[in-house]
Amino acid sequence: MNLDSATRRNLELTETIRGGGAKGSLLHVLDHTVTPMGGRLLRQWVSKPLLDIAAIEKRQNGVACLLEDGILRAELFRLFTGLPDMERAINLIVSGHAGPRTLTSLRQALRCLPDIKAAIPADCAPLQALVANLDLCSTELDLLERAIADEPPATLQHTGVIRPGFSAELDGVIEASSHARDWIANLEAVERERSGIKNLKVGYNKVFGYYLEVSRANSQHVPEDYIRKQTLVNAERYITPEMKEYEALVLNADERIREIEGRIFQQVCKELAASSQKILDAARTLAELDTLASLAEAAALGNYVRPALLPDQTLEIHDGRHPVVEQSPLGKRFVPNDCVFGEGEIVRVITGPNMSGKSTFLRQTALIVLMAQIGSFVPASSARIGLVDRIFTRIGAEDEISAGQSTFMVEMVQTAEILNNATPRSLLILDEIGRGTSTYDGLSIAWAVVEYIHNHPKLRSRTLFATHFHELTQLQDLIPGVRNYNVAVSEADGQVVFLHKIVPGGADRSYGIHVAQLAGLPRAIIQRANEILRQLEASSGKAVKIEPEGARQLALFPETNPLLEELHNLDLNALSPIEALNLLYQWQRRFDQS
Ligand code: ATP
Repeated sequence: MNLDSATRRNLELTETIRGGGAKGSLLHVLDHTVTPMGGRLLRQWVSKPLLDIAAIEKRQNGVACLLEDGILRAELFRLFTGLPDMERAINLIVSGHAGPRTLTSLRQALRCLPDIKAAIPADCAPLQALVANLDLCSTELDLLERAIADEPPATLQHTGVIRPGFSAELDGVIEASSHARDWIANLEAVERERSGIKNLKVGYNKVFGYYLEVSRANSQHVPEDYIRKQTLVNAERYITPEMKEYEALVLNADERIREIEGRIFQQVCKELAASSQKILDAARTLAELDTLASLAEAAALGNYVRPALLPDQTLEIHDGRHPVVEQSPLGKRFVPNDCVFGEGEIVRVITGPNMSGKSTFLRQTALIVLMAQIGSFVPASSARIGLVDRIFTRIGAEDEISAGQSTFMVEMVQTAEILNNATPRSLLILDEIGRGTSTYDGLSIAWAVVEYIHNHPKLRSRTLFATHFHELTQLQDLIPGVRNYNVAVSEADGQVVFLHKIVPGGADRSYGIHVAQLAGLPRAIIQRANEILRQLEASSGKAVKIEPEGARQLALFPETNPLLEELHNLDLNALSPIEALNLLYQWQRRFDQS
């Protein structure tokens, strides 16, 4: 499924709108992957849901196995822990950027393959089908085991990359160099013995390399093959041809070893690169296992159910929840909602107060459909979903002033885009279309959009349409496929409580002033707004001349929310921790009730 960038952003699939972090996104809720490969694959799945029921069910079967078998899930997570990134390793090898430790990490990963394959129970058909073709890459592992040292240096600038025994040539050079080192180490004793000069010394400097130093008094005793190189005040320095040969061996050995190791390393990389597809396939299988286990873990933690996918326009979600909001600190009180499209229902017009949960409901429906089509289980008590070819969302006002478009222009461009591209199998999430302009223009556009979606044979897409234009509820009586829903509010003893429950019928009030009061707008404004509202309501929406405000004494300082005042006046030093906790508890209750 193709998702446009606005929908991806609006639904906060991989990052949040505010802040852009992963925490608070759908991906964050679903991501329990352990390997980097699994993490990347899950991100791909979330960004590109499937359109093929068989493929979705294949994933669901895997998730179901892993959800049922918690021990298997835990075992897989254990085996995956610390598993190196095979995909990255093989890509570095193929592109010629691998270092010695790239190969050891690939080796470490390949060593885990047999255990991972063996962990899948024989009677778990969906996962067996997945690992049946998992090639254990034993030839490649064998090569890495034989060729690369246990703990090679980080770069080829240092020696010790290739394991002894892999190359006779390399072993020969190493052997010769260590023999030469031994020979030089013994030289002093040997030459003292041969010359009889007790104070003969072997030294080294950068100009002559190794030399034999004999005091002047003994210089007439030096053997004939000594070649004098330097005369000092009290001593003479000599070399011998044999000594220089050994010296050359020692000094050149590192260079030669590096050169041979580099050559062998490149050869090993070349052989591995030739098997890159095989290794990538194995990495992909591990990534899939990790991703399926991650979805199963999310399902277990979130108490999700397996949705049924159908090839029609069904949309039946019972007790649906928003997967992210329900996990937020306030989520314990999350109210589940049904979204069951009845026979012939096309557009659902949802009215209701500000802050009552309309946007949350719209988003959760889109997220549940999307989760179902990536193969995930969903936060609901049951769900039957007719395959959706695209999810379109028009939510919120995003200014694109830098792109030369006003808020309303963006809103209209996006709406046009949706209406031009949606099909009868699409899901449309339209939140407050038309709010970016004057009331009558906005209402007229919103009305016409609903009619168009409902009537156009190329559309008739399942649509959730949230709006503050209560006039739109009339559409239910005018066109057959429109149904009204609203968010229930309890109003008792002057207390307004949003119940967050979506119920049939239209709303008649927005409670916007109530929300403004909660937000801490000065009391004078709230009172005046209520007065104006009463006048407007009395005129039943006709243009009306608002009575000017009476000469009321405005407070010098803006009034604030009473809770804030209490907080301000609190003497923290006189408060015990338990009293503080009690206060917090009371405030929270009062805040919820207000
Ligand atoms: P507005 O019309 O002002 O845009 P809205 O009706 O779209 O508001 P939301 O933004 O969806 O309201 O939700 C407002 C608040 O209510 C959010 O803080 C959210 O956490 C909470 N909320 C929404 N739905 C539920 C629910 N089903 N259960 C519990 N809390 C909810």
